[in-house]
Formats: sequence, structure tokens, C-alpha cells
Amino acid sequence: MSHGNFRKCPCPTCQERKRAEARDYMRAYRATGPRTTDARPIAWHIGVLLAQGMTLAGIAAQAGYSHDTLASISSGRVRRVRTTTAEDLLSIPVRSAAA
Ligand SMILES: [Zn+2]
Repeated sequence: MSHGNFRKCPCPTCQERKRAEARDYMRAYRATGPRTTDARPIAWHIGVLLAQGMTLAGIAAQAGYSHDTLASISSGRVRRVRTTTAEDLLSIPVRSAAA
């Protein structure tokens, strides 16, 4: 079975792999102390949520951040985000099946 880019694949196996990678990022940055983290895992996560039919506005509302913040991250304009922002956004669950 071909999953292509696991970051874009919505299947549970790839989602777990993506989550594990995000956790590793978070762990590494926490261990070295910076208060910001690479925005790419969050951009990937937002991409999956969008692919599943969520909107940036919907994600923003659920996470408690502005639409602009979400747009900046998902477009790659922002390279670093606060660790707390990353945790909030990565905690939005990916649905196992699109509605
Ligand atoms: Zn997959």
C-alpha cells in the first residue's frame, strides 16, 4: 500500500507517524530550552485538517488563535512559533474519516 508523503496521508498509521515526529520536535526543543519551535509540523498538521474539510477559520476558532496566525503558519510565512502555540494547534485531533 502506497501512502505517498506520510505528512499528507490521512490514514491512522501515517497520522501517528506524523504525531510522533511532532512529539520528537517538541521534546527536542523543550530539552534545549527555546520558547519557540519549528512551525513546519504545525503547518503539516493544519494541512491535514484542511484536507479533511476544516477551514482555517474553524481551526482558528477551535484553537483560540486568529485566522491570520493560522494563515501565516500554514503558508510557511512564519518559520517559528511559540511552543505553547504549537502544542495548542497540534492538539486539535485529526478525524479518522472525513465526514
Ligand atoms: Zn498512510
